[in-house]
Amino acid sequence: MSEFLRCVEGIDTAATHAVRIDTLMVNIGLRCNMACAHCHQSSSPTRTEAMSAGDIGTVARIAADIRPRLVDITGGAPELHPGLRRLIGSLTEAGVPTQIRTNLTALLEPEAEGLIDFLATNRVRVLASLSGVSANEPSVRQGDVFERCVTVLRQLLDAGYGSTPGLRLDIAVNPVGVSLPDPAQLEKRFRAELEGDLGIPFEELIAITNVPIGRMREKLTRSGELGSYRQSLRLAFNPRTVDLLACRYSLEIAWDGTLSDCDFNLGAGLRVAPGVPAHISEFDLDALATRPIRFADHCFACTADAGSG
Ligand code: SF4
Repeated sequence: MSEFLRCVEGIDTAATHAVRIDTLMVNIGLRCNMACAHCHQSSSPTRTEAMSAGDIGTVARIAADIRPRLVDITGGAPELHPGLRRLIGSLTEAGVPTQIRTNLTALLEPEAEGLIDFLATNRVRVLASLSGVSANEPSVRQGDVFERCVTVLRQLLDAGYGSTPGLRLDIAVNPVGVSLPDPAQLEKRFRAELEGDLGIPFEELIAITNVPIGRMREKLTRSGELGSYRQSLRLAFNPRTVDLLACRYSLEIAWDGTLSDCDFNLGAGLRVAPGVPAHISEFDLDALATRPIRFADHCFACTADAGSG
């Protein structure tokens, strides 16, 4: 039994299971135009894993059937998948609210030509990731990444994001290195820098604690900081976050149609618990909505301080 599972059981045995599926997260593929240091999927331009056209159709049918509050599309960079517009189109037709997670720079790639207007037309929410805790940090300003992000944010504003009802723009931030995020401080800085200095309004700032799996884990291992980082996550365990763990209200569909509790478990190679339907071909809402969660020690990233995930 993992240490994290013991902690959760000690607080509330019911919290070891899912409650319902509000969010259906779809990892459409691992190819990305970038290779960020914190990426728990180790995505990069050389990854080739991608959801098949057949599975995209099945995912759209499942979403239309179970009607989650949100289908949350991630990757990799979902913009680079040739089937993305078909998936979004089917979800719109079915009346299922949809969100795309973007690193912003992927929206400048040739595959994404015209995509911003398509997203706006289909009322797709945008959760834009900025790779750093502050627009002024040297790590974020490396190369022209930040400038490209700002260019795309301005294109999103021109398409109506941030000002038109239904065109929601949120910002996700991962801290650089081994620090834990301070949501209140980040919110203040990003409101001042993005909204104040650059005139880019956004709805919510979501601070994401780095999860020690994938490329982040490799980086921590190389620097000798893996043990101390994991310890700092354990020490920051906040029992009040357990009720709201994202995995208890969501389900992840991977590019190969397999099912996981969340994108982090997928990145760690963990599919749903044994005995639970593990592929979209055997989707069973009742069994999946109340499944036991497959907790592991990287889960401490979701319960650190104010919680994350
Ligand atoms: S890493 Fe996934 S399974 Fe673990 S607590 Fe976070 S959301 Fe739940």
